[in-house]
Amino acid sequence: KPLLAGKMTIITGAGSGMGAAMAKLFASEGAKVVAADLNLDRANEVVSDIQKAGNQAIAVKANVANQADISAMFSSAKEQYGPVDILVNNAGIMDNMAAVGDLEDDEWTKVMTVNTNSVMYGMRAAIQEFLPRHTGVILNIASVGGTNGARAGAAYTASKHAVVGLTKNTAYMYANEGIRVNAIAPGGIATNISQSMGNVNQFGMKRQMTGMQTSPKPGTPDEIANVALFLVSDGARYINGAIVPVDGGWTAY
Ligand code: NAD
Repeated sequence: KPLLAGKMTIITGAGSGMGAAMAKLFASEGAKVVAADLNLDRANEVVSDIQKAGNQAIAVKANVANQADISAMFSSAKEQYGPVDILVNNAGIMDNMAAVGDLEDDEWTKVMTVNTNSVMYGMRAAIQEFLPRHTGVILNIASVGGTNGARAGAAYTASKHAVVGLTKNTAYMYANEGIRVNAIAPGGIATNISQSMGNVNQFGMKRQMTGMQTSPKPGTPDEIANVALFLVSDGARYINGAIVPVDGGWTAY
């Protein structure tokens, strides 16, 4: 039996990178996928690939920084597929590498809104949806920047540490309601986000910034999606409040 047979799954930022990889993999395991993205064209391309493979998905345009968009995303999802079973808060940005002394207010607000407020909005909507049914799974995509302090800029690091805190708190608060909440902390993964940081040389860039050791070779979106599939599936039913590093060992020292 497919691992996610009939599970209605909303994935944000599903138009690219790990979001797209999770959407395709989950759909191939029987999930009914709602692929949400700010960029509807990219989400549509992912959905078209999924449908060509004979699996189920729809695309929804949503800016996760905007609460009204999150509500509309849940409404469209339910209209199409019925109750929501799984939410993956994946959308995020990493376009600011500034240390705190150089950080502009508007940059700080943007990163915190897109990376952190979005996760709170999404989880709140999902919890309200899950509570009456005493079931539901949330997976947040944090970062090694959310567990360690020298992998990215100040705003990104703070935004992902907040995602880690929100994940643990929500997991604890609803543990007796049949709801699970976990996060993945990816290391350097080759996606558009890493390219936006300047010619993928994020690893060199970080080394230069922090003087730290080199990271392992970059991972692939599929390497994140494989772990995500397990975490949202029933096989992981006793995993709750976990922050799972998928980083090739980058944070092992
Ligand atoms: P990506 O840029 O390839 O994909 C991100 C997707 O999110 C894009 O399709 C983009 O359109 C969408 N998006 C951006 N802002 C949005 C918004 N406001 N509303 C809705 N959608 C929005 O990036 P990725 O590397 O796949 O990143 C996915 C997640 O993984 C992010 O949360 C990122 O912070 C995290 N992450 C990435 C890395 C890495 O090295 N790539 C490492 C650690 C964590």
